[in-house]
Amino acid sequence: MRLRNVTGSREMIAENEYVVHDETTMKGKWQEFFGNDNPIHAEIGMGKGTFIMEMAMLHPEINYIGIEKYSSVLIRAIEKRKEHPELNNLFFIRMDAEYITDVFAEDEISYIYLNFSDPWPKDRHAKRRLTSVQFLARYHTILKKEGGIQFKTDNVPLFDFSVESAKEAGWPIIAITRDLHASEYVEGNIMTEYEKKFSGLGNKICMMRLTYPK
Ligand code: SAM
Repeated sequence: MRLRNVTGSREMIAENEYVVHDETTMKGKWQEFFGNDNPIHAEIGMGKGTFIMEMAMLHPEINYIGIEKYSSVLIRAIEKRKEHPELNNLFFIRMDAEYITDVFAEDEISYIYLNFSDPWPKDRHAKRRLTSVQFLARYHTILKKEGGIQFKTDNVPLFDFSVESAKEAGWPIIAITRDLHASEYVEGNIMTEYEKKFSGLGNKICMMRLTYPK
């Protein structure tokens, strides 16, 4: 994603009611924070938040947390979020997902969405890919035993890498397609911002779902 420095975005985020600021103090207390026992789903690298906003509107019975590394991007999600003050099941965190186990306790999250994650094409940066075995180990810590992950991308090398990572880390792949929009899994699919853009250019969308390793 091309990042523009949005003047004052850090300051605006620091005061925003939809952003959880002291996220590490929330570890183990997210259910309390939402004030209900509904499952918690997270999108890591949510960008401008189109997908997670739509999910939150469609599923009031689920709590959603959108995680984004950059203030300049998160500010766009906040702008959209402000248009829906009635939603009480969607909050954001500005953080690098590398530290996700500092923010969520064991078994605290039910499902993780990874949508069009940055590819980090250089081999020496493979550990930074959100589907690397290193990241899968972090998700293993915070996910419930019946939890899972859904990953979508149009980047075939990243998808191939992610399939191998899942196998290496022992995560069963329960659904997989290299052309989501022409597959049985398209029903109920919510398109992300990048998905709209890249499928509009004719790229096929790859998708896989993983379940928690036994
Ligand atoms: N998920 C959105 C979509 O599908 O439209 C945005 C995709 S964009 C290519 C990837 C986003 O992930 C960017 O906004 C980037 O800043 C964020 N990101 C990348 N690495 C991250 C990390 N380690 N922690 C949190 N966010 C990250």
